[in-house]
Amino acid sequence: MANPSSSRAWRNWSGRVECRPGKFAEPKSLSELQTVVRDAAAAGKKVRVVGSGHSFTELVATDDVLITLDGMQGLVEAKPEAGEATVWAGTKLHRLNPMLDEQGLAMENLGDINVQSIAGAVSTGTHGTGMKFGNIATQAIGLTLVTASGEVLELSETKDRDLFKAAQVSLGTLGVIAKVRLRLVPSYKLDYWRKKSTFTETLAKAEEWRDAHRQFEFYCFPHAEQVQLKFLDQTDAPVNVNARKKWFADVFMENFMFGAMSMVCRSFPSMCIPIARFCAGTLGFSHEINVGHKSLSTVRMVKFNEMEFAMPAERGLECVKELKEWIDREKVTVHFPIEFRYVKGDDVCISPHYGRDSAAISVHQFKGMDYKKYFDGCEAIFRNYNARPHWGKLHSLKAKDLRALYPKWDEFQRARQQLDPKGVFLTPYLKSLFVE
Ligand SMILES: Cc1cc2nc3c(=O)[nH]c(=O)nc-3n(C[C@H](O)[C@H](O)[C@H](O)COP(=O)(O)OP(=O)(O)OC[C@H]3O[C@@H](n4cnc5c(N)ncnc54)[C@H](O)[C@@H]3O)c2cc1C
Repeated sequence: MANPSSSRAWRNWSGRVECRPGKFAEPKSLSELQTVVRDAAAAGKKVRVVGSGHSFTELVATDDVLITLDGMQGLVEAKPEAGEATVWAGTKLHRLNPMLDEQGLAMENLGDINVQSIAGAVSTGTHGTGMKFGNIATQAIGLTLVTASGEVLELSETKDRDLFKAAQVSLGTLGVIAKVRLRLVPSYKLDYWRKKSTFTETLAKAEEWRDAHRQFEFYCFPHAEQVQLKFLDQTDAPVNVNARKKWFADVFMENFMFGAMSMVCRSFPSMCIPIARFCAGTLGFSHEINVGHKSLSTVRMVKFNEMEFAMPAERGLECVKELKEWIDREKVTVHFPIEFRYVKGDDVCISPHYGRDSAAISVHQFKGMDYKKYFDGCEAIFRNYNARPHWGKLHSLKAKDLRALYPKWDEFQRARQQLDPKGVFLTPYLKSLFVE
């Protein structure tokens, strides 16, 4: 999105998306935020809001006004006895989790990283793993929304419920979320095991493991038989972390070593297959007992692009088998593992997990390497499983395809047209998703 009148560029985490907004706005209060949105709308400008810029698609890109809520972070109010807290929407999860911990509270689940803003994570239906847990949008029980007219709406399960169900996952197309009221649980610790297995054994036992543990996920390497398993269970045992071992496994092996291997693959794509096999061979065991949010989030320093689709849970294993067989058979030049997680179904209009317990399968390609052919092949397989794309990750679906996947599509569209009739929050990319 070139805009010669602006010299300051904005880029997403993976560096794939770049834009030059005419104006960057950093409101520090609700009233400043209202003024920014109202003035931009009156001037006929498009408005987008960025959280941490960790989405892989053009969701945030605009030539006009880009709002960051970095100046609107922190706890507004905690109610430990009620198991809830209200936070400013710009709060980054790595700041939020310790703040909640101080109140004896915690989010029941998190995704793979903790650098997203709470509003960004809610808005795309970001999720972790565990069949008992919905995505992060389902942890939001109230939203304060600034609409295109600058009006402030308080939405919740009990107030304007239809608008709330549309706003929970809405990609910033209904307005700017200023505050999020969260449903929380008492702080907890997790007993976290990392083990290895084979692909054949994993396919046979995944559903048993899923049901036996609080949380389970696996990573299977292309071109190899080894699989990394992750099991997490709540515990009252004391924290037990070997900091050196954890640094070696999580930072040195998964980031520095894997990053170096990835650079070799980028220079010599034919090395992807032996390197995937080598990496799979280094998988090991580890165990820690840690505060929940510390066990759930990992460090991701190796940059990549990603695609993810969510399908009915009962079809997930069949799909990952087909996907891996295709990658191995076609000798696809990829060395990143395939990630497989479970997510509980929900009632949020355009949540990828709407109405069904889901399996979420993610594929990655190293930054700077060609992902198009690989992702196109994966998407063709995913689409045979009635799967829905992750809103923050790469896919090629347009409004017509998406409408067919979401039973509550029309309800979402009605809310969007009611709150933003002039399309202030609709850039060309968002139009491709929502306008036929
Ligand atoms: C390394 C890495 C790991 C990841 N791991 C996971 C994972 O484990 N699980 C998962 O599901 N996803 C994962 N993702 C995807 C990521 O969680 C989502 O794309 C998420 O939306 C990013 O949050 P953000 O704060 O960066 O939002 P952004 O990418 O900045 O924005 C995302 C969307 O939210 C909107 N938005 C942001 N703030 C507001 C607001 N205040 N009001 C209204 N709309 C707003 C934006 O306009 C945009 O449409 C990962 C991404 C990366 C790069």
